Amino acid sequence: MFLVGRVWRHKMKVMKFGGTSLANWPRFSAVAEIILTAASVTPVACVLSAPATVTNNLLAMVELAENEQDYQPLLAQVKQTFVDMFEQAKADIAPAAHQHLYTVLEQHLAHWQQKLQGVQLLGHCPDLIRAEIVVCGERLSSELMVAVIKQAQVSAGVLVPQSLLLANGPILEAVVDIDASRQRFNLVDLSINRVWVMPGFTAANDDGVTVTLGRNGSDYSAAVLAACIDAACCEIWTDVDGVYNTDPRLVADAQLLSQLSYQEAMELSYFGAKVLHPKTIAPIAQYQIPCYI
Ligand code: ASP
Ligand code: MG
Repeated sequence: MFLVGRVWRHKMKVMKFGGTSLANWPRFSAVAEIILTAASVTPVACVLSAPATVTNNLLAMVELAENEQDYQPLLAQVKQTFVDMFEQAKADIAPAAHQHLYTVLEQHLAHWQQKLQGVQLLGHCPDLIRAEIVVCGERLSSELMVAVIKQAQVSAGVLVPQSLLLANGPILEAVVDIDASRQRFNLVDLSINRVWVMPGFTAANDDGVTVTLGRNGSDYSAAVLAACIDAACCEIWTDVDGVYNTDPRLVADAQLLSQLSYQEAMELSYFGAKVLHPKTIAPIAQYQIPCYI
């Protein structure tokens, strides 16, 4: 336990799950089980990606609108991805929460339709509109996860990255100001929920405009969250076994490393290791947060 402002805080564990792990309901619910198991031991803050295909489809939808082409089929596909998950999740969610998920989905769909019409008229999509649209997959993942966790009688809530993570730089490749964001987190009583879920890939700039943290930015979101809340550790759950000393797809006897220093991780990633981006390693190195892959 440590003192933040006037609140004693238990160190939380950060856990990040990517799009492949959340691609459909069976996988999504397996992730929920992993989170619940962890939460039976320690408070958890997890970071979620959009289910696989969603971010690509949202981006493609915007591009079609820019080129005055028909984006409705893609929009329908994104909708269907969530409807399929919500329907299969129905038995594991309270009826009111289930209804709420549909309301949130409908709000997003209405918002996209409206923006995409504008984009089609302009023949161009300003970055701030693109950012606003593409972060929605992460938000919907997070809403669903909170509903599932709550159904297991564990307190849970969404951490809204637009209110907590201040980021600067290009709207689609923004970099988080960790010191400023830490101050915002210090004002939040994290002890009110056992599980917090933060949509990855998302932040807001000084003007309150939604920004993205770059493609595959959810790992970076997890690292930043861990730094902001002085997490006990940051776990990146992924579909590879961990970090190898060389690219296992190219070298047959590549060896899985049991541990490496922040410096070594940084070097490997500069030389092309895809497991962790240098941008992701920086915050966990700066705040000396152990990271498990
Ligand atoms: N969903 C975003 C992307 O596909 C961010 C992430 O998953 O890390 O780039
Ligand atoms: Mg990834």
